Amino acid sequence: MVIRQLEPQTINRIAAGEVIDRPASVVKELIENAIDAGARNIEVVTRGGGIALTQVNDDGVGMIPSDLELAVERHTTSKLRDEELLDIRTLGFRGEALPSIASIARLSITTRARNSAESFEIVVDRGVRQAFRPAAVNSGTRVEVRELFSATPARLKFLKSERVEHLAINDTLKRLAMAHPEIGFSLTTGERRSLKLAPATRKPQDFLYRIGRIIGREFVDDALALEGERDGIYLHGFCSLPTLNRADSTMQFLFVNGRPVRDKLLVGAIRGAYGDLLPRGRFPLIALFVDLEPGAVDVNVHPAKTEVRFRSPGIVRHLIVAGLRSVLNNACYRASASGGITAIDKLARGSITKSKLDPYKAVDRLPAGQKPNQSRPNLVPGGMFRASIDKFPGSIQASFNEVDQPSAYTGSCDHDVRVDKAQNLPLGAARAQIHENYIVAQTEDSMIIVDQHAAHERIIYERIKASLTNGAIASQGLLIPVVVTLDAHEVDFIIDLANYLAKLGLVLERFGTEAVVVREVPTLLGRSDVTELVRDIAAELRLLGTRETLSANLNAMCAVIACHGSIRSGRRLCAQEMNALLRDMEKTPGSGQCNHGRPTYIELKLHDIEKLFARR
Ligand code: ADP
Ligand code: MG
Repeated sequence: MVIRQLEPQTINRIAAGEVIDRPASVVKELIENAIDAGARNIEVVTRGGGIALTQVNDDGVGMIPSDLELAVERHTTSKLRDEELLDIRTLGFRGEALPSIASIARLSITTRARNSAESFEIVVDRGVRQAFRPAAVNSGTRVEVRELFSATPARLKFLKSERVEHLAINDTLKRLAMAHPEIGFSLTTGERRSLKLAPATRKPQDFLYRIGRIIGREFVDDALALEGERDGIYLHGFCSLPTLNRADSTMQFLFVNGRPVRDKLLVGAIRGAYGDLLPRGRFPLIALFVDLEPGAVDVNVHPAKTEVRFRSPGIVRHLIVAGLRSVLNNACYRASASGGITAIDKLARGSITKSKLDPYKAVDRLPAGQKPNQSRPNLVPGGMFRASIDKFPGSIQASFNEVDQPSAYTGSCDHDVRVDKAQNLPLGAARAQIHENYIVAQTEDSMIIVDQHAAHERIIYERIKASLTNGAIASQGLLIPVVVTLDAHEVDFIIDLANYLAKLGLVLERFGTEAVVVREVPTLLGRSDVTELVRDIAAELRLLGTRETLSANLNAMCAVIACHGSIRSGRRLCAQEMNALLRDMEKTPGSGQCNHGRPTYIELKLHDIEKLFARR
């Protein structure tokens, strides 16, 4: 056996395998170099999904000829001194990108250093230097990569379609553009310019505008700004109201010291902060920036530098959870504007149908594992759900009086006085109830439609959680204990958690292998059907199985109880009751969405309604 040193070309190709795994990595490395070079404008041109051509032009500092020669050598960098490996302030620092690219493609760099009269070009073809000559370029640097992976054909086979590679390039550029609003970006694919972002400032509104260009217009309407600091770790950015969410996390943009990252810790913290404001499997839209001393974070975990390691992960997590929670709580009743906008759109196109507006139809689209019928109002006519309006705790209890008269017109409730006052409030003054479930309210400049069941369910849910934090929930003993038959598994699940259920006011014991006996129920449930409640809880626990954490279980049980304790659709409310509900929504954190992340109300701006009638 003979041990020998590998050829530099071979070493470069091995390194290239790590740094450059698809065309989007070339785009990432070249844009990062341009940012590090202080560019104000960066133009990217690609052809053939970045395989045939990737070109990046910048107006940064450029390079003098001797640096240009060194730049394509391995481990040569202007950015890192050996003693600085723990204090990295630039995006690049490994000195690996250019030689790696040069070893597997045809690379040409044309550059002119600032304040210099001459420009130069260097060409390296699959690891072999071809030319070094004077050239013509105005200022800054142009890097051109052609025939990517032509030296490593095996890699070519692993690439996805041109379209998919293009999407990845687009995503890479967007993430970098989001972190650098002061730099202008453009992307041209083939003959078409697909994105153009003008340079802006770092002022919050400019920042949000840039982010909106990337995430989408609806984000700008529904974004909450957040900012915080702890122990030298700064957090800022924007998060969506819970009602604006997606089925995956592709719209979560996370940055550490201006570097786009995909980090489990950050994703987990976001998940934790939104907690029960979102059902399982739904993800908020987010652009979040964490800035800290370079020494407090290790970005040298992986060549692509998308993973990081924090020195104090606990503090970072806490900062994110606390920051998000506080803005989300302040947003209280706010639901996404997109509901109203979509409704207006549909109205304008004349395509609105009852089923499209029926929020319960959305149940069909619940993520797998979500039990659909628990929040579905039981539309059994009358009687069945005389759900104890008189038993509601707090302000609703005080103001909800049983009225059996239809109250579709509020004329009888001296509304004129209250309308004037209430319409200055966020959710306005109730004017009518339609289809026994929708409260129509008016504010100074809009009309609001509330889904009374969904809204009340959320209010009860938040109340249950609040009383849990302050101890246990009040319960009342049943004169005659109720025996509920279940299957043996369900009995096991429920008995396992009997202690927690007792805290929620539901006291029960095992009764043989296939039944439990219920002795006390939460007071707020009033005359609700105990058997059905216990069956729903058992079914929910069975669905959750043992995979979920205890707190997820608890939240799920609170949700079931809230559903049983809330006003059903089909119940007629008088003006006082409706207004009381609106006021409670305004006070309750998270009341803008129901327990399934759907909005509890939509707002139609008068301005838009007038447009529908061609008044504007
Ligand atoms: P790194 O970015 O890790 O330093 P690279 O291989 O990406 O390594 O680049 C090597 C060097 O080339 C950089 O340190 C920088 O000095 C120079 N360079 C690369 N791209 C540019 C550019 N667009 N403008 C000015 N200098 C550049
Ligand atoms: Mg670099």
